[in-house]
Amino acid sequence: MGSPSPRFLFLLVYVFVLLSVSSTSSFTIQESFIHCLGAHSQNPIPFSTSFYTPNNASFTSILESAAQNLRYLLPSMPKPDFIFTPLEDSHVQAAVICAKTLNIHMRVRSGGHDYEGLSYVSLVEKPFMILDLVKLRAIHVDVAQNMAWIQAGPTIGEVYYRISEKSQVHGFPAGICTSLGIGGHITGGAYGSMMRKYGLGADNIIDARIVDSDGKILDKEAMEEDLFWAIRGGGVGSFGIILWWQIKLVQVPPIVTVFTVTKTLEQKANKILYKWQQAAPNIDENIFIRVLIQVTNSSTVGKKTISTSYNALFLGGVDSLLQVMKRSFPELGITKKDCLETSWIKSVVYMAGYPISTPPEILLQGKSIGKTYFKAKSDFMRQVIPEIALSSLWKRFLLEESAFMIWNPYGGMMNRIPESTRLL
Ligand SMILES: Cc1cc2nc3c(=O)[nH]c(=O)nc-3n(C[C@H](O)[C@H](O)[C@H](O)COP(=O)(O)OP(=O)(O)OC[C@H]3O[C@@H](n4cnc5c(N)ncnc54)[C@H](O)[C@@H]3O)c2cc1C
Repeated sequence: MGSPSPRFLFLLVYVFVLLSVSSTSSFTIQESFIHCLGAHSQNPIPFSTSFYTPNNASFTSILESAAQNLRYLLPSMPKPDFIFTPLEDSHVQAAVICAKTLNIHMRVRSGGHDYEGLSYVSLVEKPFMILDLVKLRAIHVDVAQNMAWIQAGPTIGEVYYRISEKSQVHGFPAGICTSLGIGGHITGGAYGSMMRKYGLGADNIIDARIVDSDGKILDKEAMEEDLFWAIRGGGVGSFGIILWWQIKLVQVPPIVTVFTVTKTLEQKANKILYKWQQAAPNIDENIFIRVLIQVTNSSTVGKKTISTSYNALFLGGVDSLLQVMKRSFPELGITKKDCLETSWIKSVVYMAGYPISTPPEILLQGKSIGKTYFKAKSDFMRQVIPEIALSSLWKRFLLEESAFMIWNPYGGMMNRIPESTRLL
């Protein structure tokens, strides 16, 4: 695979530090927080619809709503002392001030897809609260200006949908899983099926509004250049709370093409995957071909094999796609029958794993395609893995109960963004 941009070799350390002053009040921590919020918020806060303690009937459903990794919802996992769902920016400012004053550890949640549940569980710090941005969901798309302002709460799928509502030839290059929250997603970079053409979501951020640890709102102009650079990939929980992102829209053609073709070991999966490693990062940048790898039943009864599914988006029609594939990756043997021409927004739905006939409105439900108990890790490959090493890898892989790998090719725009790039 192509060499990754060194920008991504950051140390992502989650240290949301709220310097503390001990509370000496005899109120409960929840009462003290509510009292403090009232004192610091510009507008009244309707607590009945924004504040949840374990005594509330809806506490568990709010806690579990966006949590993606079920491991972190097990009864043995610490639960927050309360959840606050702000309704406007000033509520977030007040929450930061009050958590700091009352020495309450704060976890911030947008879409809840943190691999290790960092947005809704604190294993060590107590007391802790969740600041859940689920109700800050505004999306203002301005096609004429080629940009949109988006609050931290919507899923990336909602963002894609709202863009497509305004224009069939604009899009945004971020994640493939459509239930990711834009708040947390962009802060980790945000790779997806258009990154070979346009870079990461973080490369297409024009401006941001964040709340710092003093409860002040800063935009790009008000924050240090280094801070604006850091929040676009450095894991923002360390630096403040994102309220808004301003994104740059990118051009997409009215017709795009998608396909998914599966090869098992019996169908020369090893040889094809070896070729893919050389082709996929160097092929025409309008195409993104990822590989989904899992254990499946073999054609021999009672045996297991490895299946490799080539799942692709091409920014153009099927005839051009076939020419590109013939030129650069003929080993996959793609034919017209394997391909489907569609709109960009429908390709988003397809690449997220829904059947192609699913109406794009599914993206407005903000639902995850499947919550599960998982342990996940990401890594970069810098060298092509030889076929013999792939065979050894499969031996290990077949021992796992339900292992799954996704290989995403870089190259294209990802190779052209210099390490020193800081601003758009
Ligand atoms: C099933 C699945 C599929 C994925 N697919 C992709 C993909 O296609 N492309 C990709 O690039 N990544 C992908 N990821 C990784 C994903 O982008 C990151 O986990 C991202 O941080 C999730 O953001 P979130 O808002 O949904 O998660 P959250 O759990 O809400 O937040 C993640 C982290 O960011 C912090 N945070 C959240 N919101 C804010 C905010 N507004 N201000 C400050 N800090 C905040 C949280 O405290 C937490 O530390 C995937 C993850 C999963 C579980």
